[in-house]
Amino acid sequence: MVGVLGACALALPRLRRELIRDVVRWDAPPSDAPPLPAGTGPGLPPSPRTRVVLVDGLSAEVTPSLPTWSALCKRGLQLRVDVGFPTISLPVEVALWSGLTQQQTGVMFRADRPLDPPLDRRGIPAQVDGSIAIAESHGWIVRSLGFSRVEPAADPDHPAKDAEPDAWKQKWLDVARTAVASDAKLVFVHLLRVDEAGHAHGSAQPEYRDVALGADELLGKLLAADRDARWFFVTDHGHLPGGGHGGEELDVRQVEACIAGPGITIHAAGANELVHVVDVARAIADSTGATLHHASRGRPITAAITAPLARDEAVPAIGLGAGAIALFVLAGGLAASAWAVRRWWLAPWWWFAACTALYVVRGEPTLSMRMVYAPEGRDMYLVWLAALPLATIGTYLGLARRPIAQVIVGQLALPAAAAASVITVTGAWPAIFGAEVAPVVPRFTAYMSPLVLMVAHGAAAVALAVLARLVLPRFGRRAPPEPPRSEPAASA
Ligand SMILES: [Zn+2]
Repeated sequence: MVGVLGACALALPRLRRELIRDVVRWDAPPSDAPPLPAGTGPGLPPSPRTRVVLVDGLSAEVTPSLPTWSALCKRGLQLRVDVGFPTISLPVEVALWSGLTQQQTGVMFRADRPLDPPLDRRGIPAQVDGSIAIAESHGWIVRSLGFSRVEPAADPDHPAKDAEPDAWKQKWLDVARTAVASDAKLVFVHLLRVDEAGHAHGSAQPEYRDVALGADELLGKLLAADRDARWFFVTDHGHLPGGGHGGEELDVRQVEACIAGPGITIHAAGANELVHVVDVARAIADSTGATLHHASRGRPITAAITAPLARDEAVPAIGLGAGAIALFVLAGGLAASAWAVRRWWLAPWWWFAACTALYVVRGEPTLSMRMVYAPEGRDMYLVWLAALPLATIGTYLGLARRPIAQVIVGQLALPAAAAASVITVTGAWPAIFGAEVAPVVPRFTAYMSPLVLMVAHGAAAVALAVLARLVLPRFGRRAPPEPPRSEPAASA
C-alpha cells in the first residue's frame, strides 16, 4: 500500500508537467463554434488599402489614455472585442485572420511553434495578392498567417526565432512605414513591446502605461504614412493587473478596437458594443474582398453592432458528453468517500483546506497565471503545504480504528476523483496515453494543474502515516505493561 501511494506521489507531478507541456505545445481536435446572436446590416464596403495594426497585449483600461488610438476611434467606429478563449497571441491572431475561433482551428497555444505550413486560403492574408505583414519582433506569429510578404525572416535553424534580431530592431519601423505607404492592398503591423511590458510589470503599473504610450506614438507614425487608408487598430488580449494572459478573465479577454477611414460612417450606429474577434475578421475580409471560411461565425460589422455579445457569450462551452462523464466520476468519488468516512474527522479535510487556501491566497487558477504552468508548481504548493499534516494525522488516527483501505479511500477518493473529473472535462485522457493533443478548455485546464499535484502530495502525506503506523509500534510505543513478576514466595 505504501509502495502504491509512493508511486502516485512520484508519478503525478510528472504527469502534471507532461499535461502542461501538451497544453502549450499541441493543437486541440477542431470542433464547432456556436452561432453568434443574429443581427442585420451590411458589411464594410471594400477599400483599396487596408491597414491593420495589432498592439499585442494592450488592456482595455489603458486605451482611452492613448492619444492616437483615441483620435482614430473618434473619427471611426469604436468597438469592444471579445477575443474568445484561450487569450494567447497566435490562436487569437489566427482567429482574427481566418474568422474561425480557437476551437474551430484547434490552435490553442503552440508556444514558439509557428504554423507550418502557414494559414492557407482559409485565412484572409493568402487570399489578398501582395499582402504584407511586418512584426516588431517574434516574427513567427506573423509568419504563421499566410501573408505574401513577411518580415522579419526566420532564423534558418530555428523557425521560431527571427534572423538577425538586433539589426531588425534598428530598421523594422522604417520597413513597416514603407509597407504602410505602399499601394499594397493589405498591410499588417504587429507591435509587441506592450505585451512584453505586461509580462514584466503587469497592466496596473506605470511602466506598462509608459510603454503603451510609446506604442501609441508608433501608431501615430504608422498612421501618418497613409492617412487615407482604412485603418484597424486592434489587439489580441489584455493583461492581468499583475501581468499574464491566456485565461478567460474579462480583463484579458475583452479589449478595444477601432476601425476608421474612408467608408466608415457608421460610428453613430453603435459605439463601443461588444463584438467577437471573428466579427472583426469579417470586417477585414469585407475590406479586402476576401471571403471567410463557410464555418466562420463572423457577422457583417453593422449586424454585429446591432446584436452585441452577452458578457460571457464568447467563452466556449464545455462538451456535454465530457461534462456528464466528469460529473459521474466526481459523484463516484463522493460515494466512495461517503462509504469510507464513517466519522466526520476521517473526511479529507486536508484537501478542502488545501483548495480553500489556494483560492484565498492565489485566487481561482486560470491559464493567465504563471503558477499553473510552473514545472514544480511551487507557488501553488507552498500555499497548501500547511494543510498536508491534516492528511497524515487523520490517516494515523484512522488506522487505529478502521481497515487501511477504508482510511486511504476516505482520504484520497474525493481528491483523486476531482482530479480525474477535470482530466475528463478537459479531454486530457488521450494526452495522458501519449496522444499529441492540447487539453485546453476554459477554467478546468487551469484547475487540472493544482488538483493533480494535490493528489500527489496527499498520497505522500497518507503514505507517511501508514508507514508510521507500521513502524512506530515497534519503536516508539510504550511497551505493554509487563505482568507482575511476583515472587511465588511473596504472594504466598
Ligand atoms: Zn504575451
